[in-house]
Amino acid sequence: MNIDEFRVRGKEMIEYICEYIRTLEGKRVTANVDPGYLRHLMPNEAPFKPESWDAIMRDVDGKIMPGITHWQHPRFHAYFPSGNSFPSILGDLLSDAIGCIGFSWAASPACTELETIVLDWYAKAIDLPAEFLSEQKSGGGVIQGSASECILVTMLAARSQAIKMLKEQEPNTEDSAFLPKLVAYCSTESHSCVEKAAMISLVKLRVLEPDDKASLRGKRLESAIREDVANGLVPFYVSTTLGTTGSCAFDNLVEIGPVCKLYPNIWLHVDGAYAGNAFICPEMRPFMAGIEHADSFNTNPNKWLLVNFDCSCLWVRNRMKLTSALVVDPLYLQHARSGESIDYRHWGIPLSRRFRALKLWFVMRSYGISGLQKYIRNHIRLAKRFEAQMKKDRRFEILNDVRVGLVCFRLKESEEMNQELLANINASGRLHMIPARVMGKYILRFCITKEDATEEDIDYALNVIEEHATEVMLAHYE
Ligand code: PLP
Repeated sequence: MNIDEFRVRGKEMIEYICEYIRTLEGKRVTANVDPGYLRHLMPNEAPFKPESWDAIMRDVDGKIMPGITHWQHPRFHAYFPSGNSFPSILGDLLSDAIGCIGFSWAASPACTELETIVLDWYAKAIDLPAEFLSEQKSGGGVIQGSASECILVTMLAARSQAIKMLKEQEPNTEDSAFLPKLVAYCSTESHSCVEKAAMISLVKLRVLEPDDKASLRGKRLESAIREDVANGLVPFYVSTTLGTTGSCAFDNLVEIGPVCKLYPNIWLHVDGAYAGNAFICPEMRPFMAGIEHADSFNTNPNKWLLVNFDCSCLWVRNRMKLTSALVVDPLYLQHARSGESIDYRHWGIPLSRRFRALKLWFVMRSYGISGLQKYIRNHIRLAKRFEAQMKKDRRFEILNDVRVGLVCFRLKESEEMNQELLANINASGRLHMIPARVMGKYILRFCITKEDATEEDIDYALNVIEEHATEVMLAHYE
C-alpha cells in the first residue's frame, strides 16, 4: 500500500469504524461461534502473493466480525469497561503512524516528556499525594501495559529493597538464598495478578480473609505479619485494592497504612485499576483515605477513563527504589543526556514502549477534567438506579455497597439457578455479564460500561434480567 492508497483506505477505515459503532446496538453482544470456528474459514498458510485490500476487508466482515464479542456494545455489562473514545482512537492512530519506540529520552524526547507531564496532570486530577509527582523529583508516574505489570514491577522493586536490607546483615549470602524468607500479602478479593506476580518473583504470598464487606482490615494484616515475623519470615510487600474485581470493595488503607509503617521494609501498593479513576471526582476521594501511606498506586485509564487499551498508570513515591530493581545499561542504549532526563526503560520490564501518552493527553484535553467527571458521575448514577430498581423486585438481593459503576446481585435462590439465569441471559445475546464469587456467594456482576449510557439502557437490562429470572423460576417451580 502506498501513501495514495493509504489516504483512500484510511478514510474508508474511519467510515467503517463509524458504521461499526453506529450499528453496534443491532448486533448480538456476544459471539455465537464454537472454538476453532476461524480455523475452518482460513487457509492453512499465509498467502504467497499479495491480496487486494477489498478481499481482506471482505474477510473482516464475513469471518472476523462474527467471532467478536462487542465490548463497546450498549448491552455489554461484563468485567469492567474497556476504555474507548474517538480522541483516544485518534491518539493511537497517530502514535502508530509516528511509530517511535520511546525507551529513553533520546529515543524520542516528546514521547518521554509528554508521558511525565500527563502523569503529573493525572496525579493532580485524582489528588494523589504530592510525593508521587515527578515535579517533586523523588517520585513520578509511568504508563505500563497493564495493572498486572504495575503490580509485578512494584513487587520486584520491593523484593530488591528487602534483599538489599538482608544483605547488609549477611553480605556473604547469595541474593536468591533470601527468597524463601520473603512474604507478601493480599486479600482473597485481590486480583489474581498479585498471585501471578508472587509466582514470578519466587516469594511466598499470604492471602488474607477480608471482613464481611470484602475489605481487608488492619488487624487481620497485623496478626498475619506478627505470626510470620515470629516464624523468621520477612514481610516485604502488601498489595491492597481500591475497587476489587469481584464486588468493588475498598480495603481499609487508614488501618493498613500504619501497620505497614511498623515494618520499615514493607512496600504498600494500592491497586485502583478500575475505581481509582473515580477519584477524579472530589466526592469520591473519601474512598482513597489513607493513600498517603502508599509507596505506589496504579489505575487504568484504559478501564474507566475513555482511553483505549493499553494505558495503565503507575505512580511511585520513590522512583529510585523502582528503577534500581530494573536498571541494565548496555552501551547501545546510553545517551548523552541520561543524567538530565527520565529513561522509562528503567521503570518497567519491556525495553520497547509505544507512545501511549498521546491518547491520554488527547482524552484529557478533549474532555477536560469536567467532562471526565461527568462521565464517571453518570456511570455511578446509573449503577445506583439499577440497584434501586432491582431492590424493588423481592426475588433479588444486592450483595455489594454500590459506590461506583458495579452492582453485584443474585436471585435469592440456589447457586444452580443463578448459574442458569446467567447462562440463559448470555446465550440470548441480548446482554452480557459475568459471575464472581463474593464472600462465598455466587453473584452476577452488572457493570456500566458504555461511554454515554442512559437510563433506557439500564431499564432495558433490568427487563431482560427480570424476564429470564421469571423463566428460570417457572422452570424450577412448575
Ligand atoms: N486489578 C484489578 C482490581 C482488576 O480489576 C484487574 C482487571 O480487571 C487487574 C488488576 C488486572 O488488570 P490488567 O488486565 O490491566 O492486568
